[in-house]
Amino acid sequence: MGDELKNKILERHRIKIAAAPQMVSRICGRCSYVNKLESKYCEGKGCNYPLTQLALDEIKAAEEAKFQALRNELVETKAAQHKKDSEMQMLKEHMAKMEESQLKITELLEVMKIAKFSDGKIGKDTTMLDEKRRVTIGYVDDNNRSVEMKVPLDGFEIDEASVDVATSHPPKRGARK
Ligand SMILES: [Zn+2]
Repeated sequence: MGDELKNKILERHRIKIAAAPQMVSRICGRCSYVNKLESKYCEGKGCNYPLTQLALDEIKAAEEAKFQALRNELVETKAAQHKKDSEMQMLKEHMAKMEESQLKITELLEVMKIAKFSDGKIGKDTTMLDEKRRVTIGYVDDNNRSVEMKVPLDGFEIDEASVDVATSHPPKRGARK
């Protein structure tokens, strides 16, 4: 007996057969729009709510990928910042060393200026000159070694203008009288 015939017999006896409930649409959980069964996302105006597990998984995966990209970006930014910081640190150290060297030169010149203007005399009967009329200047070099330099006073000429341009620092000690 076919289904149609069976239903007709039952109908004649006033027994109603309802069609088995079947999913024919997807009602949006957010805006209640009735979507077609094949819709993955709500087509209600401006809603786009996920209607299936697959759609939900897609959204989760997309968000996870976005987070991962952000995390990667953050790591890259940090690495770049770290590189910049260490470059800056190296530059600072280099500049400090250069400044120190320049100060040393300025100080050596200062000593020679003092010697030149007083002909090597410190006070009444003391001199900074040795028997060959040389000034002995001691300083510590970049490798922390103590260096002694003997500069003959008579062979040393000071040209004020070029000294000032070379050091750009005004003399610290009272060399000018
Ligand atoms: Zn919706």
